[in-house]
Amino acid sequence: MSIDDTTAPGTSSTPTSGSGTTGGTGIQVSGLTKTFKVGRGRTVTALEDAELHTEQGSFLALLGPSGCGKSTILRILADLEHPTAGTALVDGKTPAELRKNSELGIAFQDHALLPWRSVTKNIRLPFEVAGRDVDKAYVDELIALVGLTGFEDSRPAQLSGGMRQRVSIARALALKPSVLLLDEPFGALDDMTRQNLNLELLRIWTEKPATTLLVTHGISEAIFLSDQVAVMSPRPGRIKAIIDVDLPRPRTPDMMRTPEFHALVDQASELLFGADGRADAES
Ligand code: ADP
Ligand code: MG
Repeated sequence: MSIDDTTAPGTSSTPTSGSGTTGGTGIQVSGLTKTFKVGRGRTVTALEDAELHTEQGSFLALLGPSGCGKSTILRILADLEHPTAGTALVDGKTPAELRKNSELGIAFQDHALLPWRSVTKNIRLPFEVAGRDVDKAYVDELIALVGLTGFEDSRPAQLSGGMRQRVSIARALALKPSVLLLDEPFGALDDMTRQNLNLELLRIWTEKPATTLLVTHGISEAIFLSDQVAVMSPRPGRIKAIIDVDLPRPRTPDMMRTPEFHALVDQASELLFGADGRADAES
């Protein structure tokens, strides 16, 4: 679909080298390849020559069939894996630099909260890990931001799945990261909770903007939230296409009923499943 020149902020302007760092801003993934050794001399190519380029502060969603390398890209950006070839930078910095400066906020499907710690103490954890003084006022602000006021002293087992994921998002935001990496954070939740949390995520991202990469298997949520949606091919994962989501912001749920939204969903579905709708099942 065409991009309306007057109304669409943040669409397809040429990336510049701004911001005083090297190599441009936003996510800059070039020729990214990852091969895993899986024993007896065998290898698995999880990722082959992946390319992703976004702008600083933009929201990118990654869609693709199960096992196509989505988490591998995210884990490389999080400095949890090293690429076999190619480069990955965000806002001109390597994953190692981002991690060292505590500029990364990460949340996974498995919330990975410490079960013996309260909500407040789980959200304080990143300060402790980074050796920083806990900003108690900010932790309280985050608890309010994710709608958990009144549950400060609860332990994870006393919370619903959706509430645990809210804690995990708040924890990801604790150190005011400039880069937010979210790997199917709501993937294990029921549809209603998921939809509500997507709205929350949108509100939170608008209030605390960060260069964001969201791995998801929800086509509608990917489009609803993002500036761009990258669709991957089955393993070895490559970026098959990038869809520019030229829907205006702020986004509201009623936009999901517009023809423009449906056209974008159709475009993504066709890329994922093919015109006959019979490609690989998603994760
Ligand atoms: P996705 O998140 O898209 O489902 P992943 O990035 O987790 O996919 O995995 C991509 C491929 O790489 C899969 O085939 C997976 O089995 C393989 N893989 C991922 N991590 C490892 C690892 N540590 N060792 C061996 N193989 C791995
Ligand atoms: Mg994954």
